[in-house]
Amino acid sequence: MKIRTKIHLFSTLLMFVILILTNTGVYFLFEKMAYDTEREQLQSQVKELTASFSKMTAQNDPAVIIRAHLPDNGAISVAGQRLGSGEATTLLKDYTPTITNDSYTVEKVNGTSVLSVSSPVIWNNGDVVQLDMMQLLVNVDRNLMALKLVLAGVTLLAMLPVVFSSIGLSRIVINPIEKLIATMSQSRKSGTYEKIQMSVDRKDEMAQMALTFNEMMEQLEQNYKQQEQFVSNASHELKTPLTVIESYARLLTRRGFDNRDVAEEAVGAILSESVRMKSMIEQLLQLAKNDELATFQFEETDLFDQIEKTVKPMRQAYARQFDFEGIKDSIVTTDSERFRQLLYIFLDNARKYSDDLVKITLQDEGDSYAIAITDYGNGIPQEALPHVFNRFYRVEEDRNRKTGGTGLGLAIAKQLADGLGAGLKMESISGMGTTVRITIPKRLDSH
Ligand code: ADP
Repeated sequence: MKIRTKIHLFSTLLMFVILILTNTGVYFLFEKMAYDTEREQLQSQVKELTASFSKMTAQNDPAVIIRAHLPDNGAISVAGQRLGSGEATTLLKDYTPTITNDSYTVEKVNGTSVLSVSSPVIWNNGDVVQLDMMQLLVNVDRNLMALKLVLAGVTLLAMLPVVFSSIGLSRIVINPIEKLIATMSQSRKSGTYEKIQMSVDRKDEMAQMALTFNEMMEQLEQNYKQQEQFVSNASHELKTPLTVIESYARLLTRRGFDNRDVAEEAVGAILSESVRMKSMIEQLLQLAKNDELATFQFEETDLFDQIEKTVKPMRQAYARQFDFEGIKDSIVTTDSERFRQLLYIFLDNARKYSDDLVKITLQDEGDSYAIAITDYGNGIPQEALPHVFNRFYRVEEDRNRKTGGTGLGLAIAKQLADGLGAGLKMESISGMGTTVRITIPKRLDSH
């Protein structure tokens, strides 16, 4: 069953039950009040009659007394005598009320309600006999019937707005959901990232839902495009070393077995391309892994020690001058492993793209620590600076210079910095050198 039908059914049924319950309550309350008024009246009449009977002597004719007290449209039955007035004369001719515990009863006789009150009286011969006084409740019946009709009419009338409001309500709630379903199935069928069209002035939860859905679709589309771009870039980049390897291998088969020089050149090239390809694949895996933020492990650590630990092996490995100056006991909460990885990327670039000294400084900047890595190499042209953090981006000359780079290092650095909540800034003057600034927040929650 559709939600729309469910809403209609549920709200209509609920309202119907509420109306029926209240109207039934109203009806029975009114009926009780009407019967009580009539009963009190009849009871006082019975009282007067019993008082008259108590004064009765053997000479008095009981029929005269009875007639004097006969109610309109009613009857009195006592000691085998029965007198009636109006319609009651014939209607109640053979009727005997069944009075149980209370001294009164209301019963239907031929469709008309009859109220009967009974009381014991002392008869003129000293016997105690039962007196029944009965009255037709014609007016009360008429009023109750009118009330029934009015209440039924009110119930039906009140149901109209309920039905209309349930239609309106379902329209407000269901229409956007139906739109959402239609958009989703359209997206699935066409393989595109469709968005829901919404009127701009709607500000409720449904508009919020559509907005969130549209944002989600946009993000999915963006992610998909990025992935697509990445895969096409990666395969393109991997194709270059593979083409080199293939052509050298062919050269080797053709001429390498007779010519040692050719063989050496081919094997050398194959080796260096394989090494480059291996490092590229490692970096690609690294990029994929860094996407999972959950793998970051934050702990208190001393930045000074971490920098020292990263710089020292580089000095030895490359026999280059790395000068480090900074304040000791620089405690931060970070993932030290990832921080050193980040630092390594910048140090390695500084080394790769310069021949002179590399300077590293560590400064306290209040909420955070700032690390600056400066080299005095080629620098990066101004127009290239905004792109260096993109995947596979390499400055044109470096591409040709065969430094063996992959263009993935800085993309990984950006991803690591995002995960660590660190800031990155790169300044460079072509021909003069480059400075990279990393800001690490002292506390985790300040990023
Ligand atoms: P790569 O593997 O090519 O070094 P990166 O992502 O680390 O890839 O760097 C992207 C490009 O930015 C490099 O190819 C290089 O052209 C340029 N670059 C990065 N760091 C420096 C630097 N310190 N000095 C000069 N150029 C740099």
